[in-house]
Amino acid sequence: MADKNQNFSTILNIEEITSRANFIPMAEILSDTDASAQLKSLLGHYTLKDKVKCGISSCGTMHNNGYLVNLKNDSEIIIGNKCGQKYFGVEFTNQRKAFNAMRTHAEQFSTLKKAYENLENLKNEFQASLNLPNGLSFIEIQGLIKRFVNEEFDYWMRDKIKNGVSSNGIIYQEMFKSKEEMELERLMGGGGRKYISEIKRVKVAEITAYEILAKWHEAEKLKKYFENFHRELRDPSGISNDLFKKLYQEYKKYDQNLKDLKNFCKLGNKLFTKENILKLRELFDKSHELVKIEDYANQFS
Ligand SMILES: [Zn+2]
Repeated sequence: MADKNQNFSTILNIEEITSRANFIPMAEILSDTDASAQLKSLLGHYTLKDKVKCGISSCGTMHNNGYLVNLKNDSEIIIGNKCGQKYFGVEFTNQRKAFNAMRTHAEQFSTLKKAYENLENLKNEFQASLNLPNGLSFIEIQGLIKRFVNEEFDYWMRDKIKNGVSSNGIIYQEMFKSKEEMELERLMGGGGRKYISEIKRVKVAEITAYEILAKWHEAEKLKKYFENFHRELRDPSGISNDLFKKLYQEYKKYDQNLKDLKNFCKLGNKLFTKENILKLRELFDKSHELVKIEDYANQFS
């Protein structure tokens, strides 16, 4: 159980320790048998820039990382991690485990509490990432993608787009190789009788951000994640352990998910620009098809 004297935020300043009423720089501890009976509890964890002398008299090593502990006579000393184990034995390792578990919980609790107190800002930030200034909103991009894949143009044009653009937006065209190219290929291949195709595939256009067409369901999943999390987040004081764990696990993904969501909206805005969409013309040669692509592209800036 947590002791009132325990402090779970890492102590970074030696004065915080030396100013304590019961602190003593060194306790007379001569052997591990002498020590193991003396440990009362772990009070805090310290990480200091400059090393300080260990409070166990027979250790005397300089440490900059370890624990503040109190002894059964109520005096408090600082010890290192390894010498704690060496002098205080199993009692120390058990207490360290419990202390670290409580420390982790305290950190997670304070993280969730801050998130909860900041919920309105989190919601606003989420809304802002769905509606980038001077751009298409998430909802607009979503509608455009659905129509582009299922309704835009006629069946044959959609089919040509589907087969003619690679998932990452590249349009290839088949062209005849020149005589020189074929000759070179023959030489490189050892000059044998191996069949050499007369046709080559040449990249003629690359549509920026085209990959989001196939991945947009991930963007929708991210949006749902935020809507759910904002609805479920609550003050962690007094909630069940299971809910606490669940909320914390969800919250760990928050920053990365927000980055990913913003990125989807940015890519959506890169995909639906006039110049980018006009690249689809490379797939068509009939004038009425070209006009359809141009009309469609003209709605974008
Ligand atoms: Zn030590």
